[in-house]
Amino acid sequence: MTVRLPVLDDRGHGSLRGDGSRIKVVPADVHGRFNNVRRVMFAVLGVIYVALPFIQVGGHPAVLLDIQHRKFYLFGSVFNAQDTWLVFFLLSGGAFSLVVVAALFGRVWCGYACPQTVFLEGLFRPIERFFEGPRAAHLRRDQEGVSFSRIARKTAKHAFFVITALILAHLFVSYFVSTPLIFAMMKGPPSAHWEAFAWAFGLAGILYFNFAWFREQFCVVMCPYGRLQSALGDADTIVVGYDTNRGEPRGKAKDAGAGACVDCMRCVVVCPTGIDIRNGQQLDCIGCSACVDACDEIMDSLKRPRGLVRYDSLNGFAGNARRFLRPRVALYAGLLAAGAVALFVATQNHHSVEANLIRLAGAPYTIERGIVRNSYELHLVNKRNDTATFALEPSSEYTFVILKPRVVLQPLEDVRIPIFASLPEARARAHSVVRLRVRIEGHEQDSFNISAPFLTPVDQ
Ligand code: SF4
Ligand code: SF4
Repeated sequence: MTVRLPVLDDRGHGSLRGDGSRIKVVPADVHGRFNNVRRVMFAVLGVIYVALPFIQVGGHPAVLLDIQHRKFYLFGSVFNAQDTWLVFFLLSGGAFSLVVVAALFGRVWCGYACPQTVFLEGLFRPIERFFEGPRAAHLRRDQEGVSFSRIARKTAKHAFFVITALILAHLFVSYFVSTPLIFAMMKGPPSAHWEAFAWAFGLAGILYFNFAWFREQFCVVMCPYGRLQSALGDADTIVVGYDTNRGEPRGKAKDAGAGACVDCMRCVVVCPTGIDIRNGQQLDCIGCSACVDACDEIMDSLKRPRGLVRYDSLNGFAGNARRFLRPRVALYAGLLAAGAVALFVATQNHHSVEANLIRLAGAPYTIERGIVRNSYELHLVNKRNDTATFALEPSSEYTFVILKPRVVLQPLEDVRIPIFASLPEARARAHSVVRLRVRIEGHEQDSFNISAPFLTPVDQ
């Protein structure tokens, strides 16, 4: 890769030249209040990512998505395959949250909390900085050609990249197989668990490719959320921008008549996507605020007010009135609230037990010596986080034969119980229904009734 300093003359856009070839971006170090906030965010989110598979809630990992056995544990709640419809609410809720945040604060998610940013800026970039040194030394060494120092540094850097990618990938897989199991797998031969092995190493390869080389290109050319920004925001969305009125015309600090921008390029060299924020809003800007901190440093050193590059709306930069709450924010927030209400209602109907009383295939009923009989199968699933004892209590107007009137089920264990209900033909009525109470011993408040049609000759 040809190494070029990010100057403005022959550039196409950001980290890409006009001919589509890539410009290697090596951001300079930056210090400041927003950088401090980001560091704290990276640390908190990194700890959460590492800790969740290890933390136990109710005897299970806080988050375990056991796809193989179709058991999903989320902070003490247990779900099975029949609950996957809840995923719709989770995904749409997450998407609408991002839409509301984007309408209010632009790409603050991208700059502060997206895993791409958290792992690149919080892990891989510091590793690179450690082995390659600051931006100027890194670029100079790259331009010097092959040397022992350069080979040694790059070998060590990429070795650490590979190790870090492997750790992240194994952590990710542990969300699906649990940490004790992944540690056991790591001790055994790959052939004993080749699927998990392929996932872990395949994912590690993708992470290594992404964080060692692809980097900002993921945000610039692949991420759909970035592409949607111009549609989600408006002139009142808070974004990172440059105050043209105050900054232009650029000139030296001592130039009479020059604006506040001294054209020092600090805001450009710290940018992780290689763009110049002074060229206006660009899709490549991930809202990381590095240029804000960089320019504030320069303004401080010149004893000028901060905020030449700052968080503001386009209306604010233009000197117009700012509006925080506006129709599109209300619309997005309303849709998010509607989804939240729907999720709340849905989870209220989410029992800790699943019980389906299903009529068996075949004849709708049998009549023997004046007795009408219907056959059913009760499918009972324990979705509680603990062992539960179920007692089946039929209603009194029918005669029931229940093969297992009392059954003990482990968490997410299920059972199918044949049930027969009968009634003297003389008492048969159209549209009759059999009812059964499913009582959970020790948790009577969670008990509930189920029913199914009881068919007789009168129904025909
Ligand atoms: S850091 Fe500030 S002063 Fe320097 S070029 Fe950027 S906008 Fe101008
Ligand atoms: S322009 Fe500023 S906020 Fe946008 S990506 Fe570059 S450094 Fe970050």
